[in-house]
Amino acid sequence: MRLLRTGRFAADAETGVLVVGAGAAGLTAALSAHAAGAEAMLLERDATPTGSTSLSSGLIPAAGTRFQRALGIRDDTATFFADIMAKNGGRTDAARARRLADVAGEAVEFLADAAGVPFSVVEGFTYPGHSALRMHGAPRRTGVELMGHLLEGAERAGIPLVTSAAVSTLAADAAGRILGVEVERPGGGRERIACRALVLACGGFGADAARVRTHIPTMANALYFGHPGHRGDALAWAEALGARLADLAGHQGHGSVAHPHGILITWAAMTEGGIQVNREGRRFADESHGYSEHAAAVLEQPGGEAIAIFDTRIADIARQFEDFRNAEALGAVREAADARALAAMFVLPEAALAATLAEADALAAAGTRDAFGRVFSEAKRLVAPYRAARVTGALFHTQGGPDTDAEARMLGADGRLLPNLFAAGGAGRGVSGPRADGYLSGNGLLSAVGFGRIAGLAAARLS
Ligand SMILES: Cc1cc2nc3c(=O)[nH]c(=O)nc-3n(C[C@H](O)[C@H](O)[C@H](O)COP(=O)(O)OP(=O)(O)OC[C@H]3O[C@@H](n4cnc5c(N)ncnc54)[C@H](O)[C@@H]3O)c2cc1C
Repeated sequence: MRLLRTGRFAADAETGVLVVGAGAAGLTAALSAHAAGAEAMLLERDATPTGSTSLSSGLIPAAGTRFQRALGIRDDTATFFADIMAKNGGRTDAARARRLADVAGEAVEFLADAAGVPFSVVEGFTYPGHSALRMHGAPRRTGVELMGHLLEGAERAGIPLVTSAAVSTLAADAAGRILGVEVERPGGGRERIACRALVLACGGFGADAARVRTHIPTMANALYFGHPGHRGDALAWAEALGARLADLAGHQGHGSVAHPHGILITWAAMTEGGIQVNREGRRFADESHGYSEHAAAVLEQPGGEAIAIFDTRIADIARQFEDFRNAEALGAVREAADARALAAMFVLPEAALAATLAEADALAAAGTRDAFGRVFSEAKRLVAPYRAARVTGALFHTQGGPDTDAEARMLGADGRLLPNLFAAGGAGRGVSGPRADGYLSGNGLLSAVGFGRIAGLAAARLS
């Protein structure tokens, strides 16, 4: 990735707001800029835009929405903000987190209206750290659906989306004002596009193993489960521009990816009463804390894997997720009549496994806290026959990167604003702070959709 310092930029085309990357962040930014009256254009490296957004469950947390009100859910942005800050332990910039908590509801309603996303609120369980039911998703709870609607919305709005267009170079003047970008085409051709404002929405650096080793050593050996296009391009340009970087160790991990199938087993399987055991048949952590920090705990176990154990009641809840249904269809989720059958199925020491299950049952019956700090409850007691899946820990996406202010404007190393450069979603700093346990469920799409909305509107004002 290159930075060209120049005073003059001769371009083949020109637009007002140029957006690099057509995932949730880029599409939300472009739709927002267009709705605000700006001329917007999207550049996407892939021939068909999918991004990490398509790999996700497509669930966006937001408070005070009409979708919540329709279900009688009481929630507000102050509570949402408090939940974000509680999860990151106050280790992020409060003004940015507050702005995101405030904008998320409006952004979700905007996408419903502008792109026709048929949002509804996930019911049946709350994600760890959220005080209310506030995850908004399309009916099948897949990111593919979300992307489909966003792309259709952009097409209906007539926003040009140039695919197979890998942005390789940013051109900036001496003051750091972006003049335009250079695009590489698959056949080797190059095009130059000038712009009045640029939104980087090209993802984080999860696919760059060297950067992950440097900045997130706990995930150095983890399966990377995100989109391969997260090559750290925004980070490289930010470094070249002398921009301020923040929270580079922050990330979303996940401690429950079916192995070797590579399909997400929803964390609801744990929060609803499930447990994980290692190859020795023993539990090793509090499974009710976040799935993000649990990734490293799983990777520390023998073989870097665990067996997630739950039951029929929990499988019924998990089945609302297409990923889970796919995992069942592929045979990743298996059924065992009792501890003995379960031990045989997953080659676990029978006595140790039976003791672990008996202990979990006794804790649930008594409604008490265990040595890891998990509080068990009678209502979520595991009942045979068991369901179980072999899982591993994975890196889903990075949460650190170029720092921005609450308006998604990128900052120089000295804290001064760069004149017309924005970052949203994986391309910029999130609100999870510098640690895996700072990731509150949904912080990924919250940063993508929330900062995408903010960046699109602010960039439109410059165009
Ligand atoms: C399995 C999985 C499950 C997840 N589940 C959730 C969830 O339920 N809720 C949640 O909030 N988050 C979730 N996340 C995280 C979430 O998917 C991401 O935070 C979010 O999709 C990021 O959106 P984005 O637009 O920044 O990136 P993407 O959607 O990845 O879009 C970035 C785009 O930029 C393109 N690009 C990159 N470089 C260039 C370049 N140089 N030129 C042109 N184009 C470029 C890429 O090809 C890509 O299409 C999940 C992630 C994974 C992997």
